[in-house]
Amino acid sequence: MKYNCDLISDLLPLYKDEICSEASRKIVEEHLAECPDCKKMLDSLNDITIDEKIVKEKEEVIGTQAKFFKRKSALAGSIIGLIFSIPILVCLIVNLATGAGLTWFFIVLAGILVAASLIIVPLMVRENKMFMTMVSFTASVVLLLGVICIYSGGNWFLVPASATLFGLTMLFSPFIVSRRPVNAYVKNHKGLAIMCADTATFVLMMLAIGFYAGMREFFPMAFAVSMPLVAMAWAFFAIIRYLRFNACVKTGLCIASAGALSGVLATLASSAEASMSVTGVTYSSGVSVPPIAIVAVGLAIAGIGFLVGKNKGGKK
Ligand SMILES: [Zn+2]
Repeated sequence: MKYNCDLISDLLPLYKDEICSEASRKIVEEHLAECPDCKKMLDSLNDITIDEKIVKEKEEVIGTQAKFFKRKSALAGSIIGLIFSIPILVCLIVNLATGAGLTWFFIVLAGILVAASLIIVPLMVRENKMFMTMVSFTASVVLLLGVICIYSGGNWFLVPASATLFGLTMLFSPFIVSRRPVNAYVKNHKGLAIMCADTATFVLMMLAIGFYAGMREFFPMAFAVSMPLVAMAWAFFAIIRYLRFNACVKTGLCIASAGALSGVLATLASSAEASMSVTGVTYSSGVSVPPIAIVAVGLAIAGIGFLVGKNKGGKK
């Protein structure tokens, strides 16, 4: 053999893609004719091309199938939409015929929108299915409440609407933050985004209830009861999510923070007993375990965890 195999193996990719010079091509072909090893290498290079082709074809087939199913689901969505429009039309006619104008028709319409948001939206929407479905469902439920409130002449709309918003945020936010398009914005702070959304809708609900109740005493009472619990949820979240310690240390710190909070509450209760009793709230100051003991136990557990456990380091 005139050339050694290393040289030929360097040339083989160029030869395979037919981009080597005429002289190189001749050298390679001469060598291949008498070297089975290099022939084998060329064959394997060609095999890779076949694999690539198979992968490409597979992707094309999947793409076509996906397009096909998207078209089918859009068609199904349109058909269901048409079916939904029948009761809407019937109710429109009946309501117009029996009343002076449209009244309860809007309740039927909003009710059907709720169903449509769960059935038609996921079929018709092409991007961000989960997000669009949850948002449209929430919006249609709030709309339904609003319509019923107007129809019945009530002024309670904000209370169930904000409660619905809070409940659905609790339910949906874990799904929404991990999907498009929200995940692009929250990135690595999904937990924080969920906590903020839950806290915001909770406060909104409390405000709505307070304004509906129209009692001056409501706000201090409601916030005195609920805010410490919200604070505790945030403390637990911050400890579990952001501290870079092992589970034992985190558990201990959670217990300690709960103890500290109950201590703060007990102090508040005893120092403001008079004003608290006016608002109707009295924290039980006769806790059987003194808060300082809870804090001590928590810190002890955290200390043991710190000394014994390996700190793997939490997520950043
Ligand atoms: Zn060779």
